[in-house]
Amino acid sequence: MRIYDIILKKRNGGELTAGEIEAVAGGYGRGEVLDAQMAAWLMAVCFRGMTPRETADLTMTMVRSGEVLDLSCIPGIKVDKHSTGGVGDKTTLILVPLLAAAGVPVAKMSGRSLGHTGGTADKLESIPGFRVSLTPQEVVEQVKRVGAVMATQTADLAPADKRIYALRDLTATVDCIPLIAASVMSKKIASGADAILLDVKAGCGAFMKSVDDAKALASEMVAIGRQVGRQTIAVITDMDQPLGRAVGNAIEVREAIEVLQGGGPDDLVELCVILGGLGLVLGGKADSAEEGERVIRGVLADGRGAEKLRRIIEAQGGNPMVVDDPSMLPQAPVVRSVESAGSGFVRRIDALGIAQAALELGCGRAEAGAEPDLSAGVYLHRKTGDSVHAGEPLAEVHARDEASAVSVSRMVLDSFEIGTEAPESHPLVHGIMH
Ligand code: URA
Repeated sequence: MRIYDIILKKRNGGELTAGEIEAVAGGYGRGEVLDAQMAAWLMAVCFRGMTPRETADLTMTMVRSGEVLDLSCIPGIKVDKHSTGGVGDKTTLILVPLLAAAGVPVAKMSGRSLGHTGGTADKLESIPGFRVSLTPQEVVEQVKRVGAVMATQTADLAPADKRIYALRDLTATVDCIPLIAASVMSKKIASGADAILLDVKAGCGAFMKSVDDAKALASEMVAIGRQVGRQTIAVITDMDQPLGRAVGNAIEVREAIEVLQGGGPDDLVELCVILGGLGLVLGGKADSAEEGERVIRGVLADGRGAEKLRRIIEAQGGNPMVVDDPSMLPQAPVVRSVESAGSGFVRRIDALGIAQAALELGCGRAEAGAEPDLSAGVYLHRKTGDSVHAGEPLAEVHARDEASAVSVSRMVLDSFEIGTEAPESHPLVHGIMH
């Protein structure tokens, strides 16, 4: 069948066969399909959608376009965790050591920051000496020896997804649920995961602004997992305000260490316990989420999670002493307090506004290839629902110089809504799908 006919069939609402999907998406990955044709096909998918079977076929086409990390020589169920991206989301830094300490092997491939969302790889690079770029052999060897690894995605995983994503970015076809679902799941499957734990964020700081859209995305990804034989659990979680208190790179690593040392903000700890409990169920180390949560709380309390993080850092060339002395992490030369003008309650913290403030400080990448400032960031002294008096600190801005601290302080202040009435309480978890 010609590519033209496949585009026409989808445009007219037809269901494509696995062979047709391979011809168009696999063909595009190999450079055999024109950009114009792929763009037309993607737009047809946006309007017509895909059946669960088609979405699973697209996922596996993208998996087969490159290497698949072979973790089969590592005993146990290898669980991978993925967040659809948020603000202040440092759960990977906590969850990977916790799961590994509880006996679940984890090979975590993470991205760099993109747009307003932070990247785990950049955060990890704020640890002195830490190497995120490992070969597939190094990844496998470390999971065998230490139980976990946190590295960047090797270039050859799902290369068709990479090409397709770049085209989607140019053609207004990014925010299409089956395309996002196939893109995310293809990279998880290519990373060698036996089971997948998804944290699907919903809210103004997330890809999916509404809980309904986040649920639809979660349900598509769980369905792909079912079709391709990877047990998948998706948790839909709040991203209207940043997660925890720290937003940046080193500042987020510091907060992750705090959690592993038994402290940290309540929302972050709660999310890590919930995700950790489900991760243990997926990894066959707990019979129920409740049992898993109990085990995770134990691993947090007795310091085994912190010890596992030391071992991961050491294995990847970093200085493990950072876990006991986080002041070794990069620190910004200027720290400026952002104070409340009025008294009352924090009714809302706009996660996107805080993310844009962090971006302005240089924490992320305004454009591809830019180097992030690892020491900059925003620290929230107040979260939604907290009371505050005029003149008390709402947040702190950590900046490279006074001028950027002053201009970003305004952005941070504008992201807070203060009112006389306490806001309705907001759930951290909107649902769990499996
Ligand atoms: N993240 C991905 O990996 N793929 C998408 O399509 C969107 C977000």
